[in-house]
Amino acid sequence: MKIKDVRLTPLFSKFKTPYVWAMGKNFGATTILVEIETDVGVVGFGETAPTMTSPDAIYTLLKTAKSVLLEQPITQIADLMKQLFTRNFGHHYASQSHPRIGNIAFAGVELALWDALGKSVGLPVHALLGGKIHDTVSFMGFVQGETTEEVTGHARQLVQDGFEVIYLKAGHTNDKDLANVEAVRKAIGNKRLRIDPNEAWDLMEAQVMLQKLAKYDLEMVEQPVSAIAGVPALKALKQSCSIPIAADQSVFTSEEAHAMCVSGAPSLLTVGLHETGGILGFRRVAAIAKVFDINVCIHGVWETGITTCASIQAASGVPNMDDGNQIMWQLLEEDIVESPDLTPISGKISVMSTLGLGFILNEDAVGRAAEAYNKKKASDEI
Ligand SMILES: [Mg+2]
Repeated sequence: MKIKDVRLTPLFSKFKTPYVWAMGKNFGATTILVEIETDVGVVGFGETAPTMTSPDAIYTLLKTAKSVLLEQPITQIADLMKQLFTRNFGHHYASQSHPRIGNIAFAGVELALWDALGKSVGLPVHALLGGKIHDTVSFMGFVQGETTEEVTGHARQLVQDGFEVIYLKAGHTNDKDLANVEAVRKAIGNKRLRIDPNEAWDLMEAQVMLQKLAKYDLEMVEQPVSAIAGVPALKALKQSCSIPIAADQSVFTSEEAHAMCVSGAPSLLTVGLHETGGILGFRRVAAIAKVFDINVCIHGVWETGITTCASIQAASGVPNMDDGNQIMWQLLEEDIVESPDLTPISGKISVMSTLGLGFILNEDAVGRAAEAYNKKKASDEI
């Protein structure tokens, strides 16, 4: 089972509605489809999601995968990933200067390797990782919209769809955040409410805002202050705030997870496969959090159903999974996964027992997304 070919296809998928968050407004997701073909004709699929980084830069890094992986055994995933990082970031595998960017770039390769290996040996990926301990993975209802009326209407719909956890972007203006939270709380009754200001607040602003928001019974606030400010800022906020805090942008690597957990600041880590470099990296972060009795909440970037399926495979064997995980495929006008249906039922998706990562791609949709990328690239919009 050796690797015969590695193919990369940049894709662009438009959002159904503009994605409105603390960093502005975005209109679609650029991803890079990674295909790894073995010498017996098995093809594994993964995706890299360069969200907030240059797709061109990430594509350049990804192109090195072919020379590293060709003729190598598909069974050696950990070693192949080590070689990929060494080739790009250092002469010795333990010394790599850009772990975050490396994780973002190469997560798609890792996912494709797992998909190819699972299909090659006739097993779902979770079985290769030690099996599942959950039959379903639970997700939050992710509120979209620009105006207070729009977010309130969507939040109400998400409750009707069966979601128990409602998740709202914040970090706009303070007045708008206060109005949105008040209106959404009213709309969702006693459902659990989480907010994500995406690092928009400085420490004092976060302290003041969270005092004002406390009456709306927030279950969690996610990364309210800059991740660059690191552990001290979240720790200082924790000391003055009764609302549980989640660390998001602060944690990509195992070392960052350990430093954050040991500080006592976060009650939850929100982290996904793209930040951690794939399934193995995610599992390492989850294991560190478990030592501190902290749950991990899978978080998405701008991605397709490929990442949803891979996330479910990864999460199914993790004991300390949260029940308000995030998916993003539903934001796209057209997803590239044809089956299974990834619509949560009462907020839950069943763990797939089909081979590999467990999905079948819609080749026509892939073609349309590739065409959309080329069109945007030609008009210099990417
Ligand atoms: Mg976040």
